[in-house]
Amino acid sequence: MADDADVIVVGGGLAGLVAATEIADAGKRVIVVDQEGEQSLGGQAFWSFGGLFLVNSPEQRRLGIKDSYDLALQDWMGTAGFDRDDDHWPKRWAEAYVAFAAGEKRDWLRAMGHRIFPVVGWAERGGYDAMGHGNSVPRFHVTWGTGPGIVEPFERRAREAQKNGRLTFRFRHRVDTLMKTNGAIDGVSGSVLEPDSVERGKSSSRKIVGDFSLRAPAVIVASGGIGGNHEMVRQNWPKRLGEPPKFMISGVPEHVDGRMIGITEAAGARLINRDRMWHYVEGIQNWNPIWPRHGIRILPGPSSMWFDASGKRLPAPLFPGSDTLGQLHYIMSTGYDYSWFILTQSIIKKEFALSGSEQNPDLTGKSWRMTIKRATNKGAPAPVEAFKKNGADFIVRDNLADLVSAMNVLAGNDLLQHDHIKAQIEARDREIINPYVKDAQVMNIHNARRYVGDKLIRTAKPHRILDPEHGPLIAVKLNILTRKTLGGFETDLDSRVFGSNGAIIRGLYAAGEAAGFGGGGVHGYRSLEGTFLGGCLFSGRNAGRAAAKAAG
Ligand SMILES: Cc1cc2nc3c(=O)[nH]c(=O)nc-3n(C[C@H](O)[C@H](O)[C@H](O)COP(=O)(O)OP(=O)(O)OC[C@H]3O[C@@H](n4cnc5c(N)ncnc54)[C@H](O)[C@@H]3O)c2cc1C
Repeated sequence: MADDADVIVVGGGLAGLVAATEIADAGKRVIVVDQEGEQSLGGQAFWSFGGLFLVNSPEQRRLGIKDSYDLALQDWMGTAGFDRDDDHWPKRWAEAYVAFAAGEKRDWLRAMGHRIFPVVGWAERGGYDAMGHGNSVPRFHVTWGTGPGIVEPFERRAREAQKNGRLTFRFRHRVDTLMKTNGAIDGVSGSVLEPDSVERGKSSSRKIVGDFSLRAPAVIVASGGIGGNHEMVRQNWPKRLGEPPKFMISGVPEHVDGRMIGITEAAGARLINRDRMWHYVEGIQNWNPIWPRHGIRILPGPSSMWFDASGKRLPAPLFPGSDTLGQLHYIMSTGYDYSWFILTQSIIKKEFALSGSEQNPDLTGKSWRMTIKRATNKGAPAPVEAFKKNGADFIVRDNLADLVSAMNVLAGNDLLQHDHIKAQIEARDREIINPYVKDAQVMNIHNARRYVGDKLIRTAKPHRILDPEHGPLIAVKLNILTRKTLGGFETDLDSRVFGSNGAIIRGLYAAGEAAGFGGGGVHGYRSLEGTFLGGCLFSGRNAGRAAAKAAG
């Protein structure tokens, strides 16, 4: 039977788009199949903040940050904690990926018109020792234009390839089976879903109106992770984190359904590290939701005080922005699946950023005029103020007693004692007047303000939480928000998928979140952030180039 293309790519998210454009640019014919409509092209990346992990970039150097491949690799390995036989390929991917981030990544993107906001963010700051978890220096480079700005160059390349006939999109085509002949994958088959003009990100109809099959000597699975499927998240929940949370919100659209993972496994592919995932602990329910259970992650600066459900301050170094997995571990150990921030208006104004392209109209709209207001405005950015006003998880009060009783009402229990919270805040407030202190979180705040980027737009001037001048007081109930799948299909550096017998499955490639962002889990247990989009770029590129080369 004649082939329909040289390569079929399952998934029109970032990884799939990168792979497909590399294939088309190599002169080969490629079909991109996606269950969603054309309006959803770009998948999760469109909604993303567009943060990219780069090492020793001109943006870092301009801000006086001294970074290097060796320092970044030290951080990556300390963060990943690779400790399994299955980590052979993930570790090799990690070394290659850090080299990419320290090497050609920025120039490759720049040549396609990609640009970066000049203030580099400092995510996952750790707080252990030099070989432990976290970024030693700021490395989170926000795309000018956020998520849409990272999709745009690849969509443009894809549209050009579409015009010259090398790339074909098949939207509303849902793959149900990978076809196999003599042990080699050679096509896909599935269901045609009814047309649906639903807005991007909203759940689309699953009504089947036909079926299809397509043949090609190579198939790249770039179907994303499992974060939109809470049942699957719970099934794969790691035992080391205790029972899965009873209540979770979704940081991803419903199409991140994990369905293709089982389909690919059924074709013999080897899924590794399925118990590694990256969910956030600073999730807030979106008052204006796009997808089901839509939650937004707060990207917090370092000053909010963090309390567990019983009102006990989280232990050092579990400060905002330090160690996502450590925080998740701690919170799950309390027997409750939520925690609290208490902060002031001065802190929210400077330190709250919300992850997501739609929550950052200034950066997404590439408006310098609006972006500059982040540093000069009296209030918080408009989307943050809107959450403060409308968000189900926000409480604003003039005094602590009222705040604490409203927190108890919101939680539906009486776990929080005003005196207990007050004593902890007052103790912290006594430490704030000296620039040298014992309280590790206050030390962390002083450390942050020595970095010009943080001082400018991310870390409030140290002040007493109970100082009315900085009020009103704000409490935020923080939920667990599903997002990224760290495990995935085991692949070699050409993104070729291994079978359960340990041999490469001919014709099968995997990229992006479905491949654990490379190799089956390039992050190990934890991430340094900004590494997911980058993992899609790198693994999508490797998969596309290798599949095109194999096509002769
Ligand atoms: C709000 C938000 C903020 C984020 N911010 C950042 C950030 O700042 N930095 C960062 O590094 N990462 C960030 N991420 C993560 C990053 O965006 C994702 O991990 C990445 O985009 C995943 O891309 P992907 O191509 O692997 O998968 P996806 O984007 O999920 O695309 C997969 C595609 O496959 C299709 N598909 C699935 N199954 C089938 C099937 N059976 N048949 C046909 N099609 C199928 C889906 O419809 C989808 O279009 C963020 C994510 C979100 C949601």
